[in-house]
Amino acid sequence: LAGANSNIASNGQVKQKIAVMTSGGDSPGMNAAVRAVVRTGIYYGCDMYAVYEGYKGLLEGGDLLKPISWKDVRGFLSEGGTLIGTARCMEFKERWGRKQAAKNLIERGINALVVCGGDGSLTGADLFRHEWPSLVKELVEQDQSFTPEQVEPYKNLTIVGLVGSIDNDMSGTDSTIGAYSALERIVEMVDYIDATAKSHSRAFVVEVMGRHCGWLALMAGIATGADYIFIPERPPKKDQWQAELKEVCQRHREKGRRNNTVIVAEGAIDDELNPITSEDVKKVLVEIGLDTRVTILGHVQRGGTAVAHDRWLATLQGVDAVKAVLENTPSTPSPLIGINENKIIRMPLVESVKLTKSVAENIENKHFDKAIALRDSEFIDSYDNFIATTVQDDGSQLAPEGERLNIAIVHVGAPTAALNASTRSAVLYCLTRGHKPYGISNGFSGLINDGEVKEMKWLDVENWHNLGGSEIGTNRVLPSEDLGSVAYQFQKNKFDGCIIIGGFEGFTALKELYDARKQYPIFNIPILLIPSTISNNVPGTEYSLGTDTCLNTLVNYTDSIKQSASATRRRVFVVEVQGGHSGYIASFSGLVSGAVSVYTPEKKIDLTDIQEDIALLKENFKHDNGETKSGKIVIRNEVASDVYTTQLVANIIEESSKGKFGVRTAIPGHVQQGGVPSSKDRIFASRFAVKCIKFIEEFNKKNTKAVKNVSAISSEDAHSLKFHYDKISGEKVFNVDTEDNSCCVICITGSHLTFKPIQEVWENETDLVLRKGENIHWEEMNKIGDIISGRLMLRREL
Ligand code: ATP
Repeated sequence: LAGANSNIASNGQVKQKIAVMTSGGDSPGMNAAVRAVVRTGIYYGCDMYAVYEGYKGLLEGGDLLKPISWKDVRGFLSEGGTLIGTARCMEFKERWGRKQAAKNLIERGINALVVCGGDGSLTGADLFRHEWPSLVKELVEQDQSFTPEQVEPYKNLTIVGLVGSIDNDMSGTDSTIGAYSALERIVEMVDYIDATAKSHSRAFVVEVMGRHCGWLALMAGIATGADYIFIPERPPKKDQWQAELKEVCQRHREKGRRNNTVIVAEGAIDDELNPITSEDVKKVLVEIGLDTRVTILGHVQRGGTAVAHDRWLATLQGVDAVKAVLENTPSTPSPLIGINENKIIRMPLVESVKLTKSVAENIENKHFDKAIALRDSEFIDSYDNFIATTVQDDGSQLAPEGERLNIAIVHVGAPTAALNASTRSAVLYCLTRGHKPYGISNGFSGLINDGEVKEMKWLDVENWHNLGGSEIGTNRVLPSEDLGSVAYQFQKNKFDGCIIIGGFEGFTALKELYDARKQYPIFNIPILLIPSTISNNVPGTEYSLGTDTCLNTLVNYTDSIKQSASATRRRVFVVEVQGGHSGYIASFSGLVSGAVSVYTPEKKIDLTDIQEDIALLKENFKHDNGETKSGKIVIRNEVASDVYTTQLVANIIEESSKGKFGVRTAIPGHVQQGGVPSSKDRIFASRFAVKCIKFIEEFNKKNTKAVKNVSAISSEDAHSLKFHYDKISGEKVFNVDTEDNSCCVICITGSHLTFKPIQEVWENETDLVLRKGENIHWEEMNKIGDIISGRLMLRREL
């Protein structure tokens, strides 16, 4: 009874003692969650405990349920799996087991539990909370383990859930901790397979995890440019899928493809619930003469270290889990921490778990539409987009003759990893609909100088899903360099819409074309920007293509240099990252690399900060008897200060260390802009591209009137129309209208994805001097980074 009652604060309230555990299947990012929970808890003055080996640790107690300190979670961020262990524990499913667990918690005075696991673990946790009062009663009255006074402060147990699952199967949240890491592993493996498959002209059937959830298979299908996928939520007809699969693969071969990829979720079934195995799929492909191999990826999908997305997701959710514990009251339903687009959310644990379980039930009862409807709306959209660009590229989805469009695609500014992937999806979707996609070579300069416009075909783009850089070429030149030539090319090629993919230059180009509408009515067509820049500085949005790939590169880079210090120990690296006047990459790379300090252009650098760094680093190395197995990271954005250069910061820190630790600089440079796109960037690239084409289709449908006789248009119609057809030549004639909302940026803000009109974003959200948005949406990351690095605690002490 050592711990019982010992934690009652002077005001009579129970001081929070929070235990954190991981349970069920492990997933990359669980360690980041544990680290964030432990350190945030300590920051808020709580006593923190770790439960080792999942619910087994709760039942057995002893060394499996013990205090965990700040230092104990050092190095957790870079490790895969779960370092506090996980297990399946049948005894916890029994009431006696849960009573034993309650006894162990009360003995230590623990009154809150943060559980990171799948739906099984979270169901168990919620059941435990509900039974808690009766378990406590039994422990007092029947077992006489405690006196009524001893249990008085433990009337309720607080439970907060974090979803750790590679399947991404929890209803209500866009991604679970580990899902993007598993997807990245799959995509990496399929990229490797692609190379050999192309060499031998083979077909590969790749089986991925997902018993009841097809998220991994679907997203892998999109990200790897697969020909066909099988997922449990959308089972194909029992005797028809074979013919369709053959047709699709053959068609793609006829179009010139040298290999085929089919992704099969392990829980794939037909509409009679018969399993569809990878061997079944192989047999069908062999029948059409394809040299077919099967690869079952298995546990490789769970393995490895967490990608950047999972590290920041787990960190932010871990921080919020502790806040949720502190804000909890006995009447608050147990919360589950999720994410909606870019916003961390809390949702009721019980309902989310119930909905998740009902997906499997609906599949078992053949209610497939209901099952897929329980996934988030993007899941359905992504599925439809995948089918539209692969299965339905057979001419069955062509737009009516009069609605087929000419759509231009142009890359502007510095290259980022997902330019090709987004162009590929835009082109494939255009072709499915019978539109003509045109690639403009080398940005607007291509258009101005030589009018390089190329109609793009299926084979031109089919393998662009994993190519970094820009195949059509990109350039910083803006349309204002020669608006007349740009307008001439738009007219000559009869563009009905244009997609610009780029960063702040792309944003500026969009505004220039919008402003030039009065002068050149030809620009009175939908022109959209897909933000794509590692700086993430396009105003109006919180997400740009390329940032995720860049963060993954920096995660690998910082992990490697941290490790390089493991032999010599006691080394600090000042890492200079790109981003221009936007501190996004600096702030996020700080969070995902576990940096002790981050210098952003928003905050600049002053001597006090550097002094604080030195104090923090000294503190880190002070009691260090060799536990610090890796180096420490300081992140500095490239323009964070004119005076305090990366080298100067390193020199000052080194000089003050008085030989206690060494300091080096590390500058990754352009490696941050290149490379193979991450799986997340690929799927967002595809999502944005298809949404943009649909937007252009919608606009044209609403605003086109195939009126050959202009005089027949009513004056009311004439006002609202964007263009009409000349009665003599039949040519499209543009009406002057600068007020419409057809020049937009596709934006993610908080939990919303919207098309924001350029004129509004330009006027209300743009910092023109510093070339970025006015809203520094990543500011919170610095505070969270400061909590977890210990900086805020140190500041409190000083
Ligand atoms: P994954 O998604 O990886 O399968 P999970 O959390 O769903 O993760 P499970 O094996 O279902 O994994 O559950 C993990 C542990 O949670 C179980 O071994 C058991 O200890 C506990 N648990 C699961 N379901 C219940 C339940 N209904 N009641 C009590 N405890 C449960």
